[in-house]
Amino acid sequence: MTAIDRTKLKTLQKREQSRFLAEHPKSAALYQRAQSSLLGGVPMNWMKKWAGAFPIFVKLANGAHFTDVDGRDYIDLCLGDTGAMTGHSPAIVAEAVARRAKEGITFMLPTEDALWVGEDLQRRFGLPYWQFTLTATDANRFSIRIAREITRRSKILVFHYCYHGTVDESFATLENEAVAPRRGNIGPPVNPAETTRVVEFNDLNALEDALKHRDVACCILAEPAMTNVGIILPDDGYWKSARELARRHGSLLIADETHTICAGPGGCTAAWKLDPDMLVFGKAIGSGIPGATYGCSEEVAQRISARIHLEDCDVGGIGGTLAGNALSLAAMRATLEHILTPQAFERMIPLAQRFNDGVAAEIRTHHLPWNVIQLGARAEYTFAAKPPRNGGESAAAADFELERFLHLYALNRGVLLTPFRNMALMSPATTPADIDVHTKIFASATSELTTT
Ligand code: PMP
Repeated sequence: MTAIDRTKLKTLQKREQSRFLAEHPKSAALYQRAQSSLLGGVPMNWMKKWAGAFPIFVKLANGAHFTDVDGRDYIDLCLGDTGAMTGHSPAIVAEAVARRAKEGITFMLPTEDALWVGEDLQRRFGLPYWQFTLTATDANRFSIRIAREITRRSKILVFHYCYHGTVDESFATLENEAVAPRRGNIGPPVNPAETTRVVEFNDLNALEDALKHRDVACCILAEPAMTNVGIILPDDGYWKSARELARRHGSLLIADETHTICAGPGGCTAAWKLDPDMLVFGKAIGSGIPGATYGCSEEVAQRISARIHLEDCDVGGIGGTLAGNALSLAAMRATLEHILTPQAFERMIPLAQRFNDGVAAEIRTHHLPWNVIQLGARAEYTFAAKPPRNGGESAAAADFELERFLHLYALNRGVLLTPFRNMALMSPATTPADIDVHTKIFASATSELTTT
């Protein structure tokens, strides 16, 4: 196996940084100007994490491409970290949104689109009842509240190195087998050890031990396959057993399909015949127009309905003034009806396979101790020789310096990868030629890294 020469990596990174600076004068000027009005010079602090010296500013985007203010064109394999998995601004969604924007945006009253969307979600995921929020984070938070209310238990259970949005309870990791605040957790309201149990993914014994404390696990909040610390697939039969354990110990299972929707039109839940009590889906559901949803089983619906009283339903901690607004629902309807269709997945999934095969071939050619994993329309490489089986293994393989180099190398040559990991997502507008451009760039980066 080839080891990465760190001195060489630093030299190459310096070269790429100089190229980036020379080629993005307009983004540089905007970033400079932003320092005096935006905290940290960005509208949202994660935007500082891109591999260049500053984020590139976008001018316009369409389909799988966008152009920055310096006039450079990019193939977008990040797609707003799944928010734009539909491709940027699909025409049919843009038209539906424009129409709705002219006819009233928010009322605190339903429109017929909500029913269409609820009925479509029933067909996709098999759960009967649906509610809407503005973000997947909110959908997760409200699902947890419902689980707490009906089980009368306080703690949730998550997997080590999971990510479910800015849900306070989920910023917990295992440290020396004890639950601790996740590194970087800003101003935690309480120590997450008070609210959360954490176990490694794919470890049924650990799951059972944690669930045995019957007083604590109101729910398991889980991505069916982990996607936020590299892609980690479940072992065969894992979910069947985990499902049974949850039931036996009286905990609800919440499937967060926000990213794993890439597995198909009904996410992993439909593809793998999972049977969650609740399900969350956000980001791409409205092609990037803010909106998310959570659904629940007949039993959960009955149990929670019995506990929500009309007089107090507006102050129960679930809801939001703009949640379920007409604009979000119009975007969701157009997206589900015309964009995230079964036919679209039939195009997207082979593209991820093409990405996977291209990257795998280069990893082999250069004898790198890395691997690449595909989940439906998403593929990702990690710096571990074998696909990690859990969050701990995957996090141990992280290499921030190397990741930044590969991302900047790709960016300088017109390909945008997801900044928090080495992930590529396909949209219905992505083409095989787009993928081949990435493969060529990856081949050239790995070749430069490994030639002595
Ligand atoms: N669930 C998962 C699996 C996610 O990856 C994310 C965000 N990356 C969220 C929920 C939260 O989405 P949002 O930030 O849009 O609330």
